[in-house]
Amino acid sequence: MHISAPSPDAGFISYTPGYWPGHDNTQWDSYRWQLKNRVTTLTDLEKHLNLCDEERSGVLLSGSKLAMAITPHFFNLIDPDNPDCPIRRQVIPRIEETLDTPGEMLDPCGEDSHMPVPGLVHRYPDRVLFLITDRCAAYCRYCTRSRVVSGAGEQELDIDFEEAFSYLERTHSVRDVLLSGGDPLLLSDARLENILSRLRKIPHIEFIRIGSRIPIFLPQRITPELCTMLSKYHPLWMSIHANHPREITTEVREALERLANCGIPMGNQSVLLRGINDNAETMRTLLHKLLICRVRPYYLYQCDLIKGSSHLRTSLSKGLEIIESLRGHTTGYAIPQLVIDAPGGGGKVPIGPEYVVKRDETQIVIRNYEGKKFVYPEPSALLNPSALLGD
Ligand SMILES: *Cc1c(COP(=O)(O)O)cnc(C)c1O
Repeated sequence: MHISAPSPDAGFISYTPGYWPGHDNTQWDSYRWQLKNRVTTLTDLEKHLNLCDEERSGVLLSGSKLAMAITPHFFNLIDPDNPDCPIRRQVIPRIEETLDTPGEMLDPCGEDSHMPVPGLVHRYPDRVLFLITDRCAAYCRYCTRSRVVSGAGEQELDIDFEEAFSYLERTHSVRDVLLSGGDPLLLSDARLENILSRLRKIPHIEFIRIGSRIPIFLPQRITPELCTMLSKYHPLWMSIHANHPREITTEVREALERLANCGIPMGNQSVLLRGINDNAETMRTLLHKLLICRVRPYYLYQCDLIKGSSHLRTSLSKGLEIIESLRGHTTGYAIPQLVIDAPGGGGKVPIGPEYVVKRDETQIVIRNYEGKKFVYPEPSALLNPSALLGD
């Protein structure tokens, strides 16, 4: 098989500290400095990048939809001269976001209609999604919750913490709570600890996880103090969100190591995005880097039908082709489950390449990653007790 040379994105590169006019770089490692110095305006952007017309118009219109905010750390990964840069396209608005394509929705996963209490989405029998903030360190242009995050759109995220805790206390079927938002790690250690300790007091809640892109957008936030606090609430898992291998910098790897070393198992959720990670080579490089950082690739999402995302969506066959290029060819742990979050609120539905060639009551014919066919007989075809008895 042809193995191509590793791309420059395959290595762990430190892109920091960046060139930041008007600031000395001694504060680069402070997450507070990073948050205070986020790029949020057109003027800021143009200080650093050559923008194209589509981006300039997109930035001007983003204030009424999903705000723009980019941490200096993440901004630093952008290629300043290439409008197709895969980092840039994730966080810099484009005019295409104002396009309204048939089928697109403001709430593509039907979350608002599954909230028994403001902030709590209860779709599956045994687990809930608890939205605990509407702010993130930076905003992904394809955000499935853009209707409520960033504070720029018309809708606000209502959260009623007391009602939510009381719902969880009386709803004994819930054994798994997924904290998300917004980004939970944007809350202070004290605020987050308050929420975690309240949840841990509820005996039927076995499993807590945090969904966060902060390890990628703001690795400086993963302080030893935060890790020590989190490790008091085990079993605590984390789902991070990386889409492109360049995002896994030296600083990100170190942040992930700190989390792994305090015993937090991590999964990664990627969104399949056109021109960003929709090819097998890029995806494989990303998945391998995640394994090195002790992060297990969990889901690969077909991009939700969120309004204004048509320029970022790919065909379903692209995702299937990528998964097929991985299975058998690389470590099984590296392969995420491709899913569609069913439009309208059906939950996550797994999809994958077909390995079953034929199946009936007697046998199944399967193909392997090389296309070779194999037969596995069904047990009923093997068991014939009367033959054993010699009748
Ligand atoms: C994704 C999601 C979950 C968690 O699903 P898993 O498949 O267990 O990761 C729970 N609730 C909602 C509403 C979700 O969207």
